[in-house]
Amino acid sequence: MSDNNHKTLCAHVENELQVKDPQTYMKLIQPATHYCEGCGRSAAKAENVCKPKKLA
Ligand SMILES: [Zn+2]
Repeated sequence: MSDNNHKTLCAHVENELQVKDPQTYMKLIQPATHYCEGCGRSAAKAENVCKPKKLA
């Protein structure tokens, strides 16, 4: 895909960018400190999402 720069975060989550390309996804959701690998939500606390991942 070449139109990544024009996509909304919502569209990226629909395509599971948080699973396929976590590094890119992390850059998009900063300054959040955690995100969910399941549904793509970003959060300040790991306990607030179902499959928490910490931003590297
Ligand atoms: Zn979730």
